[in-house]
Parts: sequence; structure tokens; C-alpha cells
Amino acid sequence: MTDALHATDTIAAITTAPGAGGVGVVRVSGPLAPAIASVLLGREPQPRHAHLCRIHDADGEVLDQVLLLYFPAPHSYTGEDVLELQGHGSRVLLDMLVQRLCRMGARLARPGEFTERAFLNGKLDLAQAEAVADLIGARSRAGARAALRSLEGVFSERVQALLEALIALRMHVEAAIDFPEEEIDFLADPAIAEQMQRLRRQLLRLLEETRRGVRLNDGLSVAIIGRPNVGKSSLLNALAGAERAIVTDIAGTTRDVLRESLELDGQVIELLDTAGMRDSQDPIEREGVRRAREHLARADLALLVTDAGHAEGDLALLADQDPGAARVVVVNKIDRDGREPGRERRGDSEWLWLSARSGEGLDTLRGLLREYAGSDAEGAFSARRRHVQALEAVAAHLNRAEETLNATRAGELAAEDLRLAQRALSEITGAYHPDDLLGAIFGSFCIGK
Ligand code: GDP
Repeated sequence: MTDALHATDTIAAITTAPGAGGVGVVRVSGPLAPAIASVLLGREPQPRHAHLCRIHDADGEVLDQVLLLYFPAPHSYTGEDVLELQGHGSRVLLDMLVQRLCRMGARLARPGEFTERAFLNGKLDLAQAEAVADLIGARSRAGARAALRSLEGVFSERVQALLEALIALRMHVEAAIDFPEEEIDFLADPAIAEQMQRLRRQLLRLLEETRRGVRLNDGLSVAIIGRPNVGKSSLLNALAGAERAIVTDIAGTTRDVLRESLELDGQVIELLDTAGMRDSQDPIEREGVRRAREHLARADLALLVTDAGHAEGDLALLADQDPGAARVVVVNKIDRDGREPGRERRGDSEWLWLSARSGEGLDTLRGLLREYAGSDAEGAFSARRRHVQALEAVAAHLNRAEETLNATRAGELAAEDLRLAQRALSEITGAYHPDDLLGAIFGSFCIGK
């Protein structure tokens, strides 16, 4: 890990390079930034002040006329001395500008290195740094809004609140261990059990919202399954037709999986039209079925398409599936028997009656997809799978701690599990991070961010 607070090198890169026209931005961060600014400007720059400045190349030729802004440490994006040069958006000029900066002692920044330095200097925590990349890569309005909330610290504050509650519980249990003669009574105190329950409720709420944050970031993945000819493709087309499909990726034949993404009210929804799930002797078809099951296992939501009279029988298609994904039974082709469109909850599943052909009931399905995607949710923040995994690890440690306390009142063992829970939780904001985590996160950024 580099100690960026004392980073001795200065980095430079193009931060914004519009295709044609517009403003291009080159950013410099590190100890050489003020000296570079003075050389370019011919005098000392005034902090946070826009200076109009002509940049010359090494031969004295004018390269570009730029706006030069200087942000002295620590009040800058990275927490270091930062220089921003806003020039004309030509890629060639921006490249020449960066080369000029490199000749003055800066080096080209690695992907994500500005944000990594901001993290290491305490300007952003890790979840906020990830939100920078998520904001840049947002595929929908709802996703961008959610990423901005995470960048502003909404998610981190929730994690912090949970962390504080967890530390308070740890302190109770650790205190009991320090007074062994009173340990048993102390650990049997219903107040501890209550504190544990409260913590668990808080954790489960956060886990739920974090999963929604991942769906907002990645898009909701919806698997459309059902027997051949029930109307899966028609349904997909009906949904995609009203909204413009933004990506179409047809992989292989109809026996394979056809993938389509659509943006529904600013939320990306991926539809996977899977091959019929019936048993087949045909090896290619069997491969299709295998892939369909694989997609189903990864989907957030399964739409089982069926038609009147076959719904109960078709539910068997899902019988051996992991109930992880939420299920919706879609009874299609109601135009044939004149049934009214509608929505109803039956047991674990939601049921919808509609017609892909006439369009009746499609709006109800769209509303349901929006609900699952979480794009209507107030104050939703973005999150990543890594965060969900960390929270799941916290839940597992907490369960173990609770079981130990209930069964044996072994304070030391419970304390160890609570310590591990705290560590897993701290990985989200990066207060604790294994060595390879930062590389994995910042390596996926683009250069200049
Ligand atoms: P898939 O094999 O499940 O993808 O089914 P298709 O979408 O190819 O549809 C099979 C047949 O059912 C086609 O002839 C469609 O026109 C017809 N179909 C699909 N949806 C409806 C519907 O809502 N009402 C009626 N009457 N026919 C439909």
C-alpha cells in the first residue's frame, strides 16, 4: 500500500476528454503541482482562482490556452496539491499537455489513482470511492441518483451507525470477560439479548437496502422461463417494444439464451429469454436447458410464463430451483379466454394475468418490475456485491455469537465472533482492508479518475 499522504511523486492524466469540441480537463496531483503551476503561469497561482493561461511546448510554441485552477492541500479532490487545466477538448492537445507535464516531473496516473489517493488521504471512504466509479458508469437515471447518494455518504453513514451499535455490544461482552466471576450472570442479562436483537434487525434492514442498491447499480436481472410457445418472446418484445431496447445481444439460437436490456423509468432491466425447460433427449436442447437453469440461479427475479389451464403444472418447472430469486407467475394469453388482467399474491409467488398480444395487464407487470428494481424507493443508495457479501458475513458471525451466548455463555468465543463481525463490516468503508482489495477496486476505474 502506498502512503499517499506522503506520496513523493506527482501524477497527471486527462480527466475529461470530450469527443469533439467542449472542454477537456487535465488533472495533476502531488507535491510538484504548485511548482508546475508557477512555471506554466509565470507566477504563483492564487488558490481556487481561475487563471487564463497560455501553455507553451518545450520549443516555446503555444499549445493551448487553458483555464488553470490550483487547489492547495488538503482542500482538494485527492487531499494533495492539485492543479486542474481546462483546455480545448482536442485529444491531441490534451495528450501533448500531459506529455509536457510529464517532462516537468509528473508521471502518468494509473487507473483510479486520483480517487485512490483521495481514499488514502481520508477524503472519501472506500464505499464512497466505489460510488465515484458507479456514478461515472451509471446506466440509468435511478442508478446515477443512487450512486450520488452513496458518494455523498448516505450508505457509509448507515454502515457507521451499525458499526457503532456492534462496538457497543462488543464492549458489553468484553467487559463481562474481564470480570470472570460475574461473567455468567452478566451474559445472561436480557439486555444483552435485546441489544443483539436490535443489532440484527438493523443489519437485516441494511442488507435488504444494500441488495436493492446492487440492483440499482447493476440493473435487475429478470429470467423469463416457461414451456415453448407460451409467449415468452412475445412478452419480451412487448416489454422492450414500448421502451426502446438499449442493448440487444443474441447469443446463439433460440435454444440458447437471448438477452435484452431495457430501461424502464431510468432503471436497467435485463431480460433473459430462456429455452423451454422441459426434459429433452436432444443434446443441444439439453445444453440450452442447463444454461437456462444457470441463468435462473443468477437472476434476481424469475418470470414463469404460462397460460390458462397449465399454470399449476408449469410451476413444477421451478420446483427444484433455489428459491433465492423472487418468482412471479405470468399467466399469458388472457385475450383468448376473456379473463380480466390482474395481480394477486398466492403463497410465495406473485401472480399476474395479462396478454402479450393485446397488451392488457402489461402496465401492471412494468409496475411490478419497477418495485423489484427499487427505482421508486425514496433515498435509495447504490452498492456493490462486495458490500452485500460483507454484510452477509457480519450476519453469519452475529448468528454464531448469539448461538454461543445462548447455548454456553462462553463470552470469549462470542467476543471473537463479534470481533470478526466488526472486521467484516469495516471492509465496506475500508477502515479495515485486506491488501489486495484496493488493487481490485481501483484497478477497475478509468485513467484520470
Ligand atoms: P415462446 O416460445 O414462449 O417464446 O412463445 P412465442 O412468444 O414465440 O409465442 C408462441 C405463440 O403464441 C405465437 O404464435 C404467439 O403469437 C402466440 N402468443 C404469444 N402471446 C400471446 C397472447 O398474449 N395471446 C395470444 N392469443 N397469443 C399469444
